[in-house]
Amino acid sequence: MEQYGIEFRNIHKSYDGKTDVINGLNLTIPSGQRTVLLGPSGCGKSTLLRMIAGLEEITKGELLMGGQAANDLEPGERNVAMVFQNYALYPHMTVEKNIKFGMEIAKFSKEEQEERLGWALDILGLSKYKARYPRELSGGQRQRVALCRALVKKAPYFLLDEPLSNLDAQLRTTARAELVKIHEVYEPTFIYVTHDQIEAMTVGEKIIVLNKSIVQQYDTPDAVYNSPANVFVARFIGSPSMNILDAPVVEGQFVFGESKVTIPDKWRELIGDRKTVTFGIRPEHIRFSEMGDVAISVSYIENHGNEKVISYSVGEHTFMASTEPDFEYSEAMKMVINWDKVHLFDGQTTKNLGYPQ
Ligand code: ADP
Ligand code: MG
Repeated sequence: MEQYGIEFRNIHKSYDGKTDVINGLNLTIPSGQRTVLLGPSGCGKSTLLRMIAGLEEITKGELLMGGQAANDLEPGERNVAMVFQNYALYPHMTVEKNIKFGMEIAKFSKEEQEERLGWALDILGLSKYKARYPRELSGGQRQRVALCRALVKKAPYFLLDEPLSNLDAQLRTTARAELVKIHEVYEPTFIYVTHDQIEAMTVGEKIIVLNKSIVQQYDTPDAVYNSPANVFVARFIGSPSMNILDAPVVEGQFVFGESKVTIPDKWRELIGDRKTVTFGIRPEHIRFSEMGDVAISVSYIENHGNEKVISYSVGEHTFMASTEPDFEYSEAMKMVINWDKVHLFDGQTTKNLGYPQ
């Protein structure tokens, strides 16, 4: 399905004719991949997805689908299947009827309908439930019926807008794996919208991180986690989020509250003559020792069973660290800086300064 890529060329969208909610977006999404649009609520994810589906008019700019101008195509001409957060099933129809309904409208033969129904029910483990009504299903099962309904279209574009938001935490975990499985069945161009970074990390082959409709980073899950392009991405990906503070650079040392820490030469090269740098380190990369580098003041310690979360301050900044569950903190301990796990960002532009070597 190499031919089902998507390209946004200088796309603008305004709902009121005055303010742009999408302001000149350029973006290319390749064919056949699982791409996640990730960003906070209101950043324009649904608007973008609905533009691809043909449900939202494009104010300015060009949308290409499979290399062809698509701005003026009707939804039915776009080869898309879409799953929404609020997947309304028809309450008076059985699972089977709900799933076949679209195929009947599209005038599929009876045999074709039967075959696709069986195929989709099987993939999502719903075969036993086809005679049931929606009210006789759990939330997770209803969501899977909605996925089946989209799946039977075998559309080359599979669009999902926060499809798991209504499920409880455990069902979400299973459903994420099912979504990946659906994609692998016929490898459509799969575009998944979410504000949940864990979902993005587990479902996406590539993640597009958006803030206010501007692409912050477009990369693999590993790359957005390990080398975030800027402070926004660094804070958005990871839970608890990365510890970040602005650290003055004085004579080759960082000033962290009352402590001064000598900066290794290879990092000094990246810092250049900057006077302040934004320093970041993830909670899971923090260690403490009496031989540590930075004086801290611990405010509380929570035992989560699988880890201990330590909340403490460095100067005026609050930090979080996750440690082994059997870690015992003692007063004399300081924070150890593991330079292999440090991220530095420009104090003004907030862009990542890169990594030494
Ligand atoms: P997301 O899906 O990332 O939460 P949306 O694409 O739904 O964001 O919304 C982007 C922006 O457009 C928001 O500021 C939202 O309030 C606005 N918006 C979305 N839909 C409409 C609409 N139908 N009319 C007016 N404004 C809208
Ligand atoms: Mg949305």
